[in-house]
Amino acid sequence: MFATSERVREPTEGKTDTMSDSMRAGAIWERVGRRLRAELGEDVFSSWFKSIEIDLAETDAVRLSVPTRFLKSWIDHHYKDRIIARWSEEAGQAVAIEVVVRTAAGARAVSRPRPVEEAARPAVPAPAPQRHDGTHLSAAQNTLGGSPLDPRLTFETFVQGRSNTLARAAALQVAQSRPTDAVLFNPLYIHAGVGLGKTHLLQAVAGTAQAGGRRVLYLTAEKFTFGFVAALKNQTAIAFKEALRNIDLLIIDDLQFLQGKQTQAEFCHTLNALIDAGRQIVVAGDRPPSDLENLDERVRSRLAGGLTVEIGALDENLRFDILKQKLAHARAQHPGFDVPPTVMSYVAKNVTQNGRDLDGAFNRLIATNRLTNQPVTIEMAERSIRDLVRIAEPKRVKIEDIQKIVAQHYNVSRSDILSSRRTATVVRPRQIAMYLAKTMTLRSLPEIGRRFGGRDHTTVLHAVRKIEGLVGQDPALSEEVEALKRRLND
Ligand code: ADP
Ligand code: MG
Repeated sequence: MFATSERVREPTEGKTDTMSDSMRAGAIWERVGRRLRAELGEDVFSSWFKSIEIDLAETDAVRLSVPTRFLKSWIDHHYKDRIIARWSEEAGQAVAIEVVVRTAAGARAVSRPRPVEEAARPAVPAPAPQRHDGTHLSAAQNTLGGSPLDPRLTFETFVQGRSNTLARAAALQVAQSRPTDAVLFNPLYIHAGVGLGKTHLLQAVAGTAQAGGRRVLYLTAEKFTFGFVAALKNQTAIAFKEALRNIDLLIIDDLQFLQGKQTQAEFCHTLNALIDAGRQIVVAGDRPPSDLENLDERVRSRLAGGLTVEIGALDENLRFDILKQKLAHARAQHPGFDVPPTVMSYVAKNVTQNGRDLDGAFNRLIATNRLTNQPVTIEMAERSIRDLVRIAEPKRVKIEDIQKIVAQHYNVSRSDILSSRRTATVVRPRQIAMYLAKTMTLRSLPEIGRRFGGRDHTTVLHAVRKIEGLVGQDPALSEEVEALKRRLND
């Protein structure tokens, strides 16, 4: 089934590789460190990066260790992408990076590359993969190094919005289908920028399918990569593949981090084998398959043969709904805690980047409230989430610019907009321009009226109300208006 070479390193080859890899890695890490220090400042650097050590270094895969779980989680969430980017630049090739916690000295020693004599004999006995029951599955999980599932990331806690309806529906369909059902979209590929809910959705699929009795393996692409590195080192590649073959649903997160020719070839075989056997694959990545430059062409075309869906940016409504859900959850734990609606709106309006920043903002409100007993007010929120608010330095938008850009967008001239012509092709753009003038500048209605060819302020008011109403009903128009606003704010 897995027609692929059982490539086990020659002991001597292993040694030279490891020696030079780790020496080179040391030098690269030094350069990466210097750049991080320059980019982030001495304080940040010494808080988070000083204690990092290189645990294992391959040409295209590096394992870094830190002393505490907290550090690991912080680095994973805030700095890992940056480390990967800098390391890859310094190394001149794409590199997968994993951060682990170094615990007792003993545990650490195990994860170090073993000396040659030891490496020649298998250290881990291969699990016997005959039975497909629970016992075997956990052996498979171990062999395959499945990533842990977070019980909070479920479909129930995944808030639906305009930007994720399709992805959610496809994920739910896959999660609820039974082993006997025909596989509908395979692979299902979900892509989105950072913090838009990919991992949440994937974990929801994993949890739901598992609860439905299916054998699920959820892996980050890095785990997949490191699974192979470890398996090849331990000479358990056969056991690894056997275990992989005994699953119904393979879920791979962060495919953009799948690195290395060998790993990609293995991944490709795995995909083909599982798909041909009628097993479901779900994959997430930060961009569409066609943009994954480092990806093996065969993998790309296999992915393109399934269903690809995108999760778009979280709009303000969705951000508000996500916050509302977080509040309900927080109140269940801290009954005295509350966030007034005005603060919820403030956060939803201003923390616009992604779900992680929303998490961060919300946690700060709780922390500040719990630690200082301050009630949650707009002022308190402003202070505690200042750095998460997108530099809100209000750009001065000029009415002329609004007229120009709106005219351009609707392919009419600015003088049409100022004129008294009442054809529909001109009336709607004119109303939109007035609406934008009212919402994006501090000008009064009479002033706007004057600037729109000497109109009465009631005309302007009518236009503003009209567009406000339409934006609430017509998603396409609302998109258009948002796009115009973005252009004006650029
Ligand atoms: P990604 O994997 O795409 O980078 P995550 O799934 O880790 O993003 O999401 C980041 C955070 O935002 C998580 O805490 C997640 O629960 C939250 N989040 C994102 N989208 C939603 C949503 N639609 N409903 C509820 N929480 C969401
Ligand atoms: Mg993720």
